[in-house]
This record gives sequence, structure tokens and C-alpha cells, in this order.
Amino acid sequence: DKRSQPAVPKAKPKLSSNAHVVLRKRYLKKDHKGEPVETPEELFWRVARAIAEADAHYGATAEEVEDTAVRFYNLMTALDFLPNSPTLMNAGTELGQLSACFVLPVGDSLEEIFEAVKHAAKIHQSGGGTGFSFSRLRPEGDVVKSTNGVASGPVSFMSVFDSATDTIKQGGRRRGANMGILRVDHPDIERFITCKHDNDRLTNFNISVAITDTFMKALEADEDYDLINPRSGEKAGRLSARKVFDQIVESAWKNGEPGVIFLDSINKDNPTPHVGLIESTNPCGEQPLLPYESCNLGSINLAHMVRDGRIDYEHLKEVVWEAVHFLDNVIDVNKYPLAKIREMTLSNRKIGLGVMGFADMLVSLGIPYNSEEAVETAEEVMAFIQKESKAASAELGKTRGNFPNFKGSIHDPAMGASTPTMRNATTTTIAPTGTISILAGCSSGVEPIFAVTFVRKVLDGEELLEVHPLFEKAAKEKGFYSQELMKKIASKGSIQDFSEIPEEVRRVFVVAHDVSPEWHIRIQAAFQRHTDNAVSKTINFPHSATIQDVYDTYLQAYKSGCKGLTIYRDGSRDAQVLNIQKEP
Ligand code: ADP
Repeated sequence: DKRSQPAVPKAKPKLSSNAHVVLRKRYLKKDHKGEPVETPEELFWRVARAIAEADAHYGATAEEVEDTAVRFYNLMTALDFLPNSPTLMNAGTELGQLSACFVLPVGDSLEEIFEAVKHAAKIHQSGGGTGFSFSRLRPEGDVVKSTNGVASGPVSFMSVFDSATDTIKQGGRRRGANMGILRVDHPDIERFITCKHDNDRLTNFNISVAITDTFMKALEADEDYDLINPRSGEKAGRLSARKVFDQIVESAWKNGEPGVIFLDSINKDNPTPHVGLIESTNPCGEQPLLPYESCNLGSINLAHMVRDGRIDYEHLKEVVWEAVHFLDNVIDVNKYPLAKIREMTLSNRKIGLGVMGFADMLVSLGIPYNSEEAVETAEEVMAFIQKESKAASAELGKTRGNFPNFKGSIHDPAMGASTPTMRNATTTTIAPTGTISILAGCSSGVEPIFAVTFVRKVLDGEELLEVHPLFEKAAKEKGFYSQELMKKIASKGSIQDFSEIPEEVRRVFVVAHDVSPEWHIRIQAAFQRHTDNAVSKTINFPHSATIQDVYDTYLQAYKSGCKGLTIYRDGSRDAQVLNIQKEP
């Protein structure tokens, strides 16, 4: 059958050498000897065809499906849009698991706990990450009737999940990743806050405290708040909100953990409150989900959306519409690791369209990241993506039907919504894009540029000097480019103290550490205002930041409507992938 083997389209992706290395190591299909059996073009064609196939469920002819496949192929090879890693790795393969994000419930019995471990193992094997709330587990030392013993508590059980994750290496492609959440009113909260003080413990977990509005009110009034035993629902003591908050802040100051999620803000935006409450997010925090729900993400490369010094909204609109079509298709062709996950995911049909290359876009527009103009640009561009993704989803709703839990959801006209159709309970999420931004060759997510020039430690221990392409261009145009200067910059990280670089260049090329925490939060909040799900963002602090600085930032994040917060103080953890070279 000629149709089943259509030739790979002509367009070739412009991949950096680094992208080639990453593709070869983790994404290209390999034979039993570990040798790649496909080229990057064949990878994108494999993915495009597998995802386009879903159109056939809605009456598309074979010819129409192939047209869609070509459009999806062009979208990806232009590096205008990329889906999350599992889709690139697994689409059109036997495994076929395409989602990055899962949340699993953990019940308060041995059976339920180990069932969750088993389910997590299956998800990790397929390249997905898992989030868990451990809030339902009875506290350490509580009664266990069946054995007349005492309970081990959430933190002990987290180690079980951690070891299981260690053992399953996701086929050598990704190490598993978990999010562990505990409510701030759980009796073991203090133990949880400090459970990662030893950097070697729970290395496969990010941890976050789920903060409630009740807790924040107690904090503001400097009062105590109630701890609740989840087994009995009874009060199990009181703690000073200030004391617990101080512990969170101090611990985060020390080594970046725990993060926090603002549980009530998250549930205020829960699109399907009639189906259940949200208790956890995925590993990097950007995707709140119901128990057993999964979500597939995809990100638009904003660095490609600038033309003649302006944002090219016409092109952006086209890309948003194609991307929503693509991500909705992913839900249908996905092979889910569990029947329950399939059922939940298909009933809400959440997708998470986001962005990467935001900082690069700002540079092209001549806008410093730490400026009012950047905040306005973030609002403008994300409001546009939000609006267009909703319009695209509403349009799909007309032809393919609403998501099954539509009735009673926030999209239901009976609940005050304005459009009668919606295909997806959510459309937008800002992912970290840790790997796909390397493939696309742009700055990650909505983060500032990490460094204008830096030394990248490559796989075999070799070190490579990399210069940001837009910086190299500016340096050559303005006549200050030299290999020596680039090296000197790499050892500093920031260019702010280089008087030989023109002021207008220094203004625009700000790196993560030039940006104060206030501006980091303002950008996060600007994106959050136009995003259904959450925003993955790291708030960078200089090494010299005080505990009070971190404290103030947590409050700023809460007040400005962020759904969570992750901070990192420079040098507080040992291993960093990208190192700013230190002067000897
Ligand atoms: P990518 O760029 O590879 O598509 P992101 O960095 O945007 O991925 O992360 C998106 C989500 O993918 C994370 O929040 C998490 O749920 C999942 N994820 C990321 N890295 C891993 C990993 N090593 N193992 C499992 N899941 C992961």
C-alpha cells in the first residue's frame, strides 16, 4: 500500500549541534544495539503522521489526514511549536504514551499506597512524570488497627516511591520525576518541610507545601492554625502559622525546597469542580490535575514570532490553531498506562499549550526582561494565545463535541460561560520546556536568558563555549565581538559590569541573575493571569539574598495571584547543569 508509506516531506529542521546530540541520545528510535534507526526528519514525520491519524475518527479521508500530517510536520520542523518529550519519543511507536503529566491519588492504606507505587512505575517507564498528594496518609505514630502498630507517616512512605523511581530508569531516556505535596495543616508538616535537607534524600522528588487561604489569614494575623488528622478528620493540635512559614522560607533559602502551591487559588480555577478537587500538580508544578488525570503539553517558540521588530500576530494565530488541533488529537491517539487514567483524561480533555523563547523574543524586540514593557508584552502575548486557543477549542467543540464533563463545568453557559462549545477543559499551561527548548534552540519557557555566553559541560566531560546567537549578532554588528571577550563574559555570567559593551546592549541582554526576584514574580504573575493551568518558573536569588528577601517574595507571589512558587538561591545546591564558570 503506497499510502501507508508516504515520503517524508522536504522541509528540514534547522537543528543546532546540541539539539542533534539530545535527539540522538534520547529521542530517535533505536535498534537493539542502541543505534538510531531514524533521522530527525523521520522522527518528526513519525510524530506528525501518528497525531494526524486522530482526524480519521472525525470523518477525515485518508487524503485529508495526510494533509494534516504535512501541516503538523511543517509546524514542528519549522521549530515554531513542539509537543512535550513523551510525544516526540513515543508517538507512532508501540509504547505510544504521549503525556508528560500525571497525578495519582495516594490512599491511607498499605494496599492503596503500593498500588500508587505500581501505577507510578508504569508511568515512569513510559516517560511521564507523576505528582502525588500525601495529605490523606495518617501521621507518623498514629494508630494502625490491623496490627496494633503505629503508622510510618507520609515522609517515610515517600522514600518507597523514591526508591521505586530510582530503579526504573525510563529506558535510559529520562530519570523519573515526582512531585510530593503535603497540606500545610497535616500533622507531619514540619517533618515534611525539612525532609530534603539532606541533599542526597528523595532525589527523585520535588516537594511543595500546599498552602490554604486559612493558613495565609492566620499568617497575616500572626495566629495559630489547626492541624487536622486526615484519618479521623479531627483536630490534632495547633501550630503558629508564622513559625511554619518561617521554616518553609528558611528551608527554601537553604536549598530551594520546599516550593509552595496555593491550593485555594488553584481550586478557584478548577474548570470541573463538579468532578473533584485538585490536590496536586505534576512534577514541575505547572499542571494541576485531578487524581488519575493526565495532560499533554506543547509549546510555541515565541522567538520565531517576531517580524520586522514586531510580534507577528497573524503567524502566531495560525500556530495556536494548529497547536490546539495537534494537542487535542494527542488525547485520542495516546496509549494510556491505566484504564482509569484514560477515562479521566478523555472526560476532561485538558491540554496545555504554552510558550518558550519568551526571553529571546524580548531581545529581538529590544525590551529588557526586567521592565514594565516586558510585563506588558507578557500580558499581551499570553492574552492573545489564551483567547485564540479558546476560540480554536470552541471551534473543535462544534465539530467533535464538547469534553464529556462540560455540563456543570466553568465552560457551561448554565454556569455563566459565554460560548456553548468547548473541546478542552483547559487549553493553556506554561511548561519549563527543559529539553524541547534545546531542540528548538531558544530560551526555556518564560525564563530570562540564563547566560549570554557560557561553558556547557557536554556528555563526555568536555567543555564547550556557547554564545547566545542574538548576542553574537549584536556584538558583531556593533563591532565589539572577540573570542577573548566572550570567554571573559562566560566567567562572569552577566555583562552588566563590562564597560566595553554599549549601554543599549547591556540593557537588553539581562540574564537570570541580573533580574531581581520582584521582576521574576511580576513576569510569572503576568503569564498566570492569562493561563488556565499554572506557570513553571524559577525565582532566582543571588547568593547574598537574606531569608527576609525570600519571605517577601513568597508573600508577593501569593498576593499577585501566582499558583505556586519555586525559588533558587545561587550556589545553594551543588550540581547545576549549566555552570557559570567561576574565576580561579
Ligand atoms: P520537555 O521539555 O522534555 O517536554 P519540560 O521540561 O517542559 O519537558 O517538563 C514538562 C513536564 O514533563 C514536567 O513538569 C514533568 O511532568 C515531565 N517531566 C520532565 N522531566 C521528566 C523526567 N525526567 N521524568 C519524568 N517526567 C518528566
